[in-house]
Amino acid sequence: MTTIDLTDRYHSAAYMEGGPGRWLVDRARTPVRAVVLHHTAGWYGPALGADAPPEEEGTQVDALARDHRARFGIGPGYHYLAFPSGRLYAVGKWGTQRAHTTGRDSVTGERWNVVAIGVCAFGDFEVAPPSPGTLRALRAALDEANRTAGAPLAVIAHGRVPTVDAAGRPTPQATACPGRHLRPWLDGHVDSSEALRAEIRTARDALDRAEALLAAPG
Ligand SMILES: [Zn+2]
Repeated sequence: MTTIDLTDRYHSAAYMEGGPGRWLVDRARTPVRAVVLHHTAGWYGPALGADAPPEEEGTQVDALARDHRARFGIGPGYHYLAFPSGRLYAVGKWGTQRAHTTGRDSVTGERWNVVAIGVCAFGDFEVAPPSPGTLRALRAALDEANRTAGAPLAVIAHGRVPTVDAAGRPTPQATACPGRHLRPWLDGHVDSSEALRAEIRTARDALDRAEALLAAPG
């Protein structure tokens, strides 16, 4: 299934505060470092099935776009959106920063919203596993991101993104996103430099420890 390209539709002042120019990133100077995976956690409408028509998906894409525009100044705050139908929507141009992950990359000091491609699956994967169609659409997003980058990118669960604040202090993302049923799927898709792999392992271990503490009785 080919990607449905809505990037022109959302590349306008209506969806980008101050106009598109404010959100452009020179990828020759600031290349993409990784893909960060998210879920909608059930926002933006009822859960859609494998047989949902594109019109219903489009309605939820637009609800997300308007909500993010109001809250973050840009909508959608992601580059790609995946649905249980297997359809993948491109909603943010490669050469734009978005609004999906707070804080900064601990290696480059750049904001993750600038150096990471945001991919979001519609659904709440804290409560239910992703459907085959959702995984197909996510796989398509990762393939397209790797093709565009010209090399395999690291793929990181939002809650496991190794993050520092503007002063360089480690800062947890403090989110279960993209949900406990989707995070394990990523373990087979992390493929990048050893330095970034080590960062991801460290962040993953920290989150796993935090989750173990939360799950512990008393
Ligand atoms: Zn997220």
